[in-house]
Amino acid sequence: MNPYEMACRQLERSAELIDLKEDVVEYLKVPDRVLKVKIPVKMDNGRIKIFLGYRAQHCGVRGPYKGGVRYHPDVTMEEVIALAMWMTWKCALVNIPFGGGKGGVRVNPKELSKNELERLTRRFITAIMPIIGAERDIPAPDIYTDEQTMAWMMDTYSVNKGYTVPGIVTGKPVELGGSVGRSSATGRGVAIITRESAKAIGMNLKDASVAIQGFGNVGYWTAKILEEMGARIIAVSDSKGGVVDYDGIDVNSLKEYKVRHGSVVGFAEEISNEELLEMKVDILIPAAIGGVIHRDNVDKVKARMVVEAANGPITPEAEKKLDKRCELVVPDILANAGGVVVSYFEWVQDLERYFWDLERVNKELERIMVNAFREMMKVKNEFGYILWRDAAMIIALRRVVKALELRGIFP
Ligand code: NAD
Repeated sequence: MNPYEMACRQLERSAELIDLKEDVVEYLKVPDRVLKVKIPVKMDNGRIKIFLGYRAQHCGVRGPYKGGVRYHPDVTMEEVIALAMWMTWKCALVNIPFGGGKGGVRVNPKELSKNELERLTRRFITAIMPIIGAERDIPAPDIYTDEQTMAWMMDTYSVNKGYTVPGIVTGKPVELGGSVGRSSATGRGVAIITRESAKAIGMNLKDASVAIQGFGNVGYWTAKILEEMGARIIAVSDSKGGVVDYDGIDVNSLKEYKVRHGSVVGFAEEISNEELLEMKVDILIPAAIGGVIHRDNVDKVKARMVVEAANGPITPEAEKKLDKRCELVVPDILANAGGVVVSYFEWVQDLERYFWDLERVNKELERIMVNAFREMMKVKNEFGYILWRDAAMIIALRRVVKALELRGIFP
């Protein structure tokens, strides 16, 4: 099943629970707009290499499209559309006035020099310029794109416009109109939701054992903030493999090690990514790529709770089984929404040209995440036996459908 089919399956299941009309479900399955672009890049050796890029805008009834851009060799149009759809639900769930968007370039960024990456980024943004804008569609970082990528995107868009437009992207460096607390926001949100989820199932977060797949932006900040909350991070991995220490990994030392060596591998006793997913831990957090828990390995997952920090790490088939094996499976659209929430704060600050301090950013993030978790619990209790994802989806769907009804179909 490709990610788009997976997203449609999730939509159909939740829509059925609230008796959504078939034509509305059809409306929501089809993205508003998808742009596929050619990205020719002059490589350092003088030769031209062609890359493909996509920007999908799923549903804009609640506001401008919002979503990251990922650089990955496996990017496909279906994946980008699915990710845009998940962004629609995520923004609605945490009740921020955005619709879902997503972008991707089919490239292995590790094979490009910094100059080549800059040229690729600038050409990609120029190619999708007709459909983006601070009031239209606002990109952000995702897998293998970062603050520097956002700075190049903002500069390229601004140079083409003839004036500086900080609100065109979020996740920028603070010096260019980025928000304090944005880089840690997704991980902080994951940690807040993990803490609330632990409370909900009567698990003491202090000394709870945690395994995290992925040690990039989301994995690192999740690990660091959970460690501060008293949890014991016992296993971490990245694309090259994982490490385990049952006494607890010192997250900052691991980060320093990864900066020096390019991977977590070698820091402690080694384990594979597959072994990490099957560890007997209190909390398992997939924070890397999609589809890592599937029908062939779901029966081996032994965690009490799984928190989807990555987008789509559990296939729908596996999720049903996992829901029976685990006490709580927290869906991505809630768990990793902290990033888009602080992106929203960044956009608001850019439009107002008035910047908040870290205390305000983290306080407002905490309020929104905790509220969304409580709403999800309420719907879950209201419906009896449904997946946690369905509870989250029902809240999101109700908001999107209400906006659609109020706006109506043009003409
Ligand atoms: P990142 O590029 O900073 O880090 C990705 C990490 O995953 C790296 O440690 C990488 O080594 C690891 N990885 C890649 N392929 C792997 C594999 N096959 N097996 C194990 N590990 C692998 O990306 P990120 O921003 O941390 O994003 C991680 C996930 O979180 C993605 O699914 C992304 O869509 C999602 N997400 C990110 C944000 C954000 O604000 N950055 C917001 C919401 C959701």
